[in-house]
Amino acid sequence: MQLTGWGRYPIIEASPVTFQDHRSLAARLAETKPLIPYGNGRSYGDSALSSRFVPMRSRDRLLAFDPDSGLLTCEAGVLLSEIIETFLPSGWFLKVTPGTRLITVGGAVAADVHGKNHHQAGCFGDTVESLLLMLADGRIRRCSRKENPELFHATCGGMGLTGVILQVEFYLQPVPSAIIEQATIKTRNLKETFEAFEKYADWPYSVAWIDCLARGAALGRSLLMLGRFAPIGELDYAPRRTKTIPCNFPGFLLKSYSVRAFNSVYYARARSGISLNFVDIDAFFYPLDAISNWNRIYGGSGFVQYQFILPKKHSYTGLEQVLRKIMKTGKGSFLAVLKLYGPANDNYLSFPMEGYSLALDFKIEPGLFALLEQLDEIVLKHKGRLYLAKDARMSRDTFEGGYPQAEAFRSLRTSLGLAGAFNSLQSQRLGL
Ligand SMILES: Cc1cc2nc3c(=O)[nH]c(=O)nc-3n(C[C@H](O)[C@H](O)[C@H](O)COP(=O)(O)OP(=O)(O)OC[C@H]3O[C@@H](n4cnc5c(N)ncnc54)[C@H](O)[C@@H]3O)c2cc1C
Repeated sequence: MQLTGWGRYPIIEASPVTFQDHRSLAARLAETKPLIPYGNGRSYGDSALSSRFVPMRSRDRLLAFDPDSGLLTCEAGVLLSEIIETFLPSGWFLKVTPGTRLITVGGAVAADVHGKNHHQAGCFGDTVESLLLMLADGRIRRCSRKENPELFHATCGGMGLTGVILQVEFYLQPVPSAIIEQATIKTRNLKETFEAFEKYADWPYSVAWIDCLARGAALGRSLLMLGRFAPIGELDYAPRRTKTIPCNFPGFLLKSYSVRAFNSVYYARARSGISLNFVDIDAFFYPLDAISNWNRIYGGSGFVQYQFILPKKHSYTGLEQVLRKIMKTGKGSFLAVLKLYGPANDNYLSFPMEGYSLALDFKIEPGLFALLEQLDEIVLKHKGRLYLAKDARMSRDTFEGGYPQAEAFRSLRTSLGLAGAFNSLQSQRLGL
């Protein structure tokens, strides 16, 4: 069968390594090497791709919930959307959620995903109490901050390279309603955007859409969206019905003039200053899930999401340089999302660090990878790194430059017999 990630690049031929229970999974791991776990395919690039993969989505049982502490135990193939549908009506929600609810809990741990509240709540791994992990020899290890801590910190953010996550115990948060109070702030340039992020850092959720083709004095103008759960309101929740795109979009729809026109209209529609409204959680957290296969708008050759993070000290100058470079080439991106992050955690390969990240979608076309290499240089020069869950093309040097714990991660894999057993196209490209 053909296998790909959300960016539909690359597409490979691969066979599933299926199993019924832990015993049969252990037997399959003993006879098949290398392989990689596959969640719901929402990572953009090649981190879940290998010619042999372990589909985890069917491991979808909710096993236990403690309403006193909010501790949920479930199998790794459960989708975040299934958790929301089950628990939100009783007043519980995820402590950390990414911009799609269509990922598995295993994928959330493996990429140590973050949401719009990283500056206050950290990563998904920070909400995990413990997990069960099957190693290459079929042994199952419980990992937590106290039990097998090194394996725990390597698995949260370890992109499936430390074994198969079978079960996860993690905390939900109580919420008063299923409604978000949203404030939108229109800024005129990058400086104002940064100032607004810092000024409103006490709001739990924040994210900015940035007009990446704005020039001159308007460079970095944005709409900053802030959110918090409304103190009173309904807890009823039914996921929004999704629309589908019937076919791959023709490329001309994504030319820079249409991105520029879209950006101008989107920015102009927002009121100046601050506007307030109430929205449901799907509209606030998961706007992209409204169209089930929006990844097809980029056409048959696919797209990449380029997401980098820079430490606070270098964020302004680094971002300015990246935006200028993109603006010069005219390769616009409809989606250009800026986020604020709190301190890094102890996980070997987690993406966040205290600072700002920008995520940009680019259709794959001639000249793109050369541009991205130039952006890599700017990112490294400013002491930043790229997000593994989005990556399909970074070089080993770029990876090493951004992830100081790469060598320690490699050594741990070797010492536990995991190197050569769990591999993805990405891990091979990066020499992991
Ligand atoms: C629209 C959209 C918005 C997004 N927004 C965000 C965001 O805001 N923040 C963010 O951090 N990410 C975001 N992402 C990325 C996404 O959250 C991650 O890539 C996530 O890992 C995908 O989970 P998945 O279940 O689809 O896993 P896959 O894509 O199938 O796999 C991802 C990685 O997890 C590993 N893995 C999966 N299951 C297991 C398992 N059981 N055991 C061991 N390893 C496993 C795979 O080997 C692979 O390395 C977004 C993605 C999309 C499509």
